[in-house]
Amino acid sequence: MIEIQNLKKIYDQNEVLKDINATVEKGQVICVIGPSGSGKSTFIRCLNLLEKPSAGKVVFDGVNLAHIDDKQLNALREKMGMVFQGFNLFPNMNVLENIKLAPMKVKGVAEAEAEKTALELLAKVGLADKAQQFPTSLSGGQQQRVAIARALAMDPEVMLFDEPTSALDPEMVGEVLKIMQDLAQDGMTMVVVTHEMGFAKEVADEIWFMADGYLQEKGTPQEVFENPQSDRAKDFLAKVL
Ligand code: ATP
Ligand code: MG
Repeated sequence: MIEIQNLKKIYDQNEVLKDINATVEKGQVICVIGPSGSGKSTFIRCLNLLEKPSAGKVVFDGVNLAHIDDKQLNALREKMGMVFQGFNLFPNMNVLENIKLAPMKVKGVAEAEAEKTALELLAKVGLADKAQQFPTSLSGGQQQRVAIARALAMDPEVMLFDEPTSALDPEMVGEVLKIMQDLAQDGMTMVVVTHEMGFAKEVADEIWFMADGYLQEKGTPQEVFENPQSDRAKDFLAKVL
């Protein structure tokens, strides 16, 4: 579904991504782990062109993202849901309006249908009773679950998560991870940058360990966590496991 070849990203002189090669298959859950500043966010943002790669290729559903026009870019973004560390909900809209907006505006879905879908998604993330509330009246964990529902409302082919739980109070991390785990079990293709090693171990099909501009290790959770090959990965895992 996503092929990444010789991907490189340079900011000024800073070569953040040096040579990234990887493939995401449909239905796979990939967890990207690695030290702070190693380029995980930069990498995941290159997948939906929030960052423009300096060189190399990202091919999504057979389309090389280097060669798309604005219209195709919008279509691409519709197929890739993204959830960030901050929840980024629209503060002046209630929960239901937050979820309905993009399907109506971007996809031209009729309001009644958008609302029906939004309510179903809210039920799925355990917030059916919060439809009329405003984001500021919700906890961080609840806001992040709304953000996930909002991304799902576009019916994406893949969901990209960049540390979705790292801004949350510890007691709220579990409720968001649970939703993500449900999503994985439903067969959603997911690329998840995370520091939650327990989640990664349990839910990921593959772990990608990023450091020094490269994906230094790729393998099953068992391979990477129990038998890391590089010193870099051994070192990192010794600190986080
Ligand atoms: P963290 O775990 O702390 O979120 P990360 O692995 O996501 O870190 P990135 O945010 O991708 O790391 O940053 C990688 C490097 O790229 C850092 O040195 C950062 O300063 C640099 N960088 C990121 N975004 C930009 C930007 N827009 N302009 C210049 N440098 C940037
Ligand atoms: Mg980051």
